[in-house]
Amino acid sequence: MRSLPVVVRGQRLSILCLGAHSDDIEIGAGGTILHMIAEGALLDIHWCVLSGSGNRATEAHASALDFLAGASSKQIEIAEFEDSYFPSQSRELKVWLNELRERVSPDVIFTHARSDAHQDHREVNQLTTNVFRDHLVLEYEIPKWDGDLMQHNVYVPLATAVMQRKIELLMKHFGSQRSKDWFDEETFSSLARLRGMECRSPSRFAEAFTTRKLTLEIG
Ligand SMILES: [Zn+2]
Repeated sequence: MRSLPVVVRGQRLSILCLGAHSDDIEIGAGGTILHMIAEGALLDIHWCVLSGSGNRATEAHASALDFLAGASSKQIEIAEFEDSYFPSQSRELKVWLNELRERVSPDVIFTHARSDAHQDHREVNQLTTNVFRDHLVLEYEIPKWDGDLMQHNVYVPLATAVMQRKIELLMKHFGSQRSKDWFDEETFSSLARLRGMECRSPSRFAEAFTTRKLTLEIG
């Protein structure tokens, strides 16, 4: 398995993060974001949570600020689409994303996975690749009751300290998730350990993604 540098110390990289709910981006790609910042990349990040109101919006904003501490620039948007009913809001979501496309020009997009069993996540995935066609799209994974974890084809090895920081921030910010029996440190560290095994991560931990299309430039 060949490693390709996506960004190096001192280099700028613009990133769009899309998540249906307040903790999705952090669970799926939070370690990768923390890792790139820790390695000295200059990140310009546009962070969009598509459903959030009241307490969920407050915790989403506070968490994003912590995960993005050290980014060169950050834009945080919390939309108010109705949680659990994204498929029936598809038209409005697409209009929102089309409008977003006019304002951002990311190098990399993190979004939900096509194979995700959650209807809101799948809807975001389908609209991401429908709206953003000239971008590197990396689909992240969210462990859940449905048991929809898949084989991936892109890995980001994470330093142990980064992995610990990701879990620490998840536990700190998402009190509203703690009533869910799956939301604990072991779930996140176990999944990262398995992904780390699959990519032979030196630290043993990694996050995994799927990309559907990739153009190789030569010369
Ligand atoms: Zn979600």
